[in-house]
Amino acid sequence: MSGTSSPLDPINGFSSPAALPLSGGTPEEADQAIENRLAMVRLGMATALYYALRTKHPPTAAHSLRVAVGCSLWAERMRLPAEMRDRIEVAALLHDIGKIGIPDNVLRKPGKLSVAEQLTMDLYPRLGCEILSGCTNDAELLSIVRYSHAWFDSRRNRDAPRAQSIPLGARMLAIVGAVDAMTTDQVYRPAMSRERAISELMAGSGTQFDPELVHDYCRMVQTQSETVPRGVVTRWLQQLSDSRDDGPWGAGNVIGSTDIARVDCHQRYHSQLFDHMHDGVVFVDADGIVIGWNRALERLSGVMSEAACEHLWTPELIELEDSDDQAIDTENCPVYECLRSGVFSSHQLQIRGREANRVPVHVHISAVSGRRGETIGALAIFHDASRQTSLEERLVALHEKATKDALTGVDNRGQFDRALAELTDFASSSGPTFSLIICDIDRFKQINDVHGHQAGDEALVQFARVLQKHAREGDLVCRYGGEEFVVLSPSSDNPTATRRAEAIRKTIEQTPVEALGGAPLTASFGVTEYQSGDSPETVLARADRALLRAKDTGRNRVVQLGAGRSSDEATVDPRGGALAGLMSWWEGGEQSQTELQVHTPVPRDLAIEKLRGFIADHSAEVLSVSEDEVRVRLNVLYSLGGRRRADHRIGFEISMQLEEQPQDTDPQAAPLAQTVVHVQLWPIRQRDRRLRELASCIDQVIASLKSYLVGSVVRSATAP
Ligand code: GH3
Ligand code: MG
Ligand code: MG
Repeated sequence: MSGTSSPLDPINGFSSPAALPLSGGTPEEADQAIENRLAMVRLGMATALYYALRTKHPPTAAHSLRVAVGCSLWAERMRLPAEMRDRIEVAALLHDIGKIGIPDNVLRKPGKLSVAEQLTMDLYPRLGCEILSGCTNDAELLSIVRYSHAWFDSRRNRDAPRAQSIPLGARMLAIVGAVDAMTTDQVYRPAMSRERAISELMAGSGTQFDPELVHDYCRMVQTQSETVPRGVVTRWLQQLSDSRDDGPWGAGNVIGSTDIARVDCHQRYHSQLFDHMHDGVVFVDADGIVIGWNRALERLSGVMSEAACEHLWTPELIELEDSDDQAIDTENCPVYECLRSGVFSSHQLQIRGREANRVPVHVHISAVSGRRGETIGALAIFHDASRQTSLEERLVALHEKATKDALTGVDNRGQFDRALAELTDFASSSGPTFSLIICDIDRFKQINDVHGHQAGDEALVQFARVLQKHAREGDLVCRYGGEEFVVLSPSSDNPTATRRAEAIRKTIEQTPVEALGGAPLTASFGVTEYQSGDSPETVLARADRALLRAKDTGRNRVVQLGAGRSSDEATVDPRGGALAGLMSWWEGGEQSQTELQVHTPVPRDLAIEKLRGFIADHSAEVLSVSEDEVRVRLNVLYSLGGRRRADHRIGFEISMQLEEQPQDTDPQAAPLAQTVVHVQLWPIRQRDRRLRELASCIDQVIASLKSYLVGSVVRSATAP
C-alpha cells in the first residue's frame, strides 16, 4: 500500500487526510508525515486492536507486524489491487487478535500445553473472528482472518473451504505466518534457519499450503529477500512500532533514501530490544522530556509509559533515592547531570517499586549525541538489584542446605567426606599433614531418655557450638551423624590435635547445658594424624579405633593413635598430661645410656616419615636435625603401684641416625632391612631418675620406636 493509493478504511470508515496537521521540516519529511498520519487514520480501530494485542502478548504482536509487512510486500509484488492489499495487511496484522481472549497462564506457558490448555488455545482463531466482526462488517477481511489457519486440502476441517475457494489473502497469510513462526524462537522450540523453514514450507506444499503460492513465495524470497519498500516501512513500522519519528531514536533521523531495508531491520531490532529488555529504560530528550519508557520500567516502577511519556522527567516520578534513603531531586538528579555534562555515570539507588516497596537499582546513565556531537538526550537503564540479591541469597541458601547440618549449622557429612579426601590427597603428594578428631557424646541415648529428644537436640546444638568455638581458621567442624562430630585440622599434627581435643573435652565437661537442667555433657575423643600411605578410610578407621578405645577405657577422655596400631596408642588422662599409655610398666636397674639398632624394611624416606609420627605422637621436642640424624627430647610419664599418676615423668634425650642399606639385586634373596636406625637414648636428669621406672620407660620407648618403624631391634646395648 502506498500513500497515494485511494484511502480505504476497511474497519472504521474514511477520514480525510487533508484535515490533519502537517509537521514542518523538509518537503520529504512533510511527505512522510502525511503518509504516517494517513496510515494512522486509515487503520483506525485496527491500530487500537493492535495496541491491545501488544499489551496482552508482545511476541504475538511482533509476529503479526512482521507477517503484515511480509504480506504487504508480496501483495505488491503480485500487483494485487490496492484495496485487496489493504485487506490482507490489516487481516495479517490482526489475524491473531483472538489471543487477547486466551488466559495468560495458557498463552505464556513456557512448556508443553496440556490437552485442556491446547483446547483453550485452539479457540483463539474463532475468538479473533468474533472480536473483529464486532468492529467491521467487511466480509472479505473477516474471511481472510477466519481461514488464515485453514489447510489448503482442508484435511483438518472437512466443512471448511478448500484449495482455491479459500480466500487468496488467507492462503498468503498462512504461508508468511508459518515462515515467520518457524524462523523466530518459540517457547517450544528455537528458531529455524530460513533455509530450513523454506524446506518445511515445501514439505507442506499441496496439503497445508497452496503449492502455486509456495512456489511464488520462494521465488520472491530468493530474489527480493532483503528489500523492503519505503512505503511499507513508513506505514507499518513508524506508526505501529514504539519508536517516534520526532526523537533521536525515531526513524526520522536515520531513514535515508537508499537503504530502507537496513532501517527496517534496525527499527525492528531496536523496538524489540526496547520492549523485551529485562532492565527498565527511560529516554529523555535534551529538555528532559520523557520520550521512551519501556515495559520493564513499567513493571519495575509501576508507572505506565503513558503516564511518563511526553512529560518532564523528574526523579520524584519513581521516588528516586540514594542508598542512604535520601531523596533525589531535580537539582542532584543524575539524569540532568548527564544532560548537562554529557558524561556517563553509574549509581546504586533505590526507587519506589510497583508494590510501593523500596527496590534497590543499579542505574547507568549515558548521554545521546547528535551528528555534531551535541547532547540531544540521555538514556537511563535501571537494573533491579533486588533480584540479584535474592538470587544470591537463594544460591547461598541452597549451598547451605547442601553443605550444612540442619540442626547444628556445622558442616555436614558430605563436606567432611570431601575435605578428608582432599586433605589426604594433598598430604600424600607431599603436602602438609593434617589431623582428625572424632568425638562422640557419652551416653547420649540416656540423655534422650531422661530429658526428652528436644532437650537432646538442644544439647547437640550446644555441643557443636563448643566445637566451633575451639576451631581454628581452616578447621572443618562437621556433624558426622547422630551425636558424633569430627574436627579436621589442616597442617596440624597429633600432639596439637590431642591438646585441642583435650581442651574441648574439658570445656564440654565444665559447660552446664540448660536443656539438661544445668548438667554438663561429657564426650569421648579419638585423635589421629595422617600417616604416609593413608587413604581417607584408614585415617578415619584409626580415629574411630582411638574413639572406641576412649569409650572402652571409661569415656570422657582423649585417645590418640599414631601409626595405626593399638600398641602405639597413648591416652591423655583426663587429669593429666601426655603419654600416660606408656606408664603401665616400670621396672629395671640403673642405666645411663642405651644404644640399639632398629632395622626396618621401609626405605629411608618412609622411615623418616614414621619417625616423624613417633616424634609428634610423643610430643617430643626436636633438639637438632641433620641429614641423617635427629635428636629429640621427650618426657615419659609413669604411675606407681598401678595407679595412674600424672606428676611423675622422666625426660630422655634420644638420637636417631638413619643409614640406608644396599639392596640385594637377587629377587630370590631374603628381604633385608632397607634402613637401619641407630638409636641412643639417655635420661636427662640423672638425679631425678628412679631406676626401676627408668628401665621400664626405656623399654617402652624402644617398643614404641620399633612399632612405629615396623622394624625389629637387632642389638640393644647399655653403656655403663
Ligand atoms: P556412648 O557413650 O557409648 O556413645 O552411648 P550413646 O548412648 O551416646 O550411644 P548410642 O550410639 O547407643 O546412642 C546414640 C543416641 O543418640 C541414639 C539416638 O537416639 C541419639 N541421637 C542420634 N541423633 C540424634 C538427634 O539428632 N537428636 C537427638 N535428640 N538424639 C539423637
Ligand atoms: Mg554416644
Ligand atoms: Mg554414637
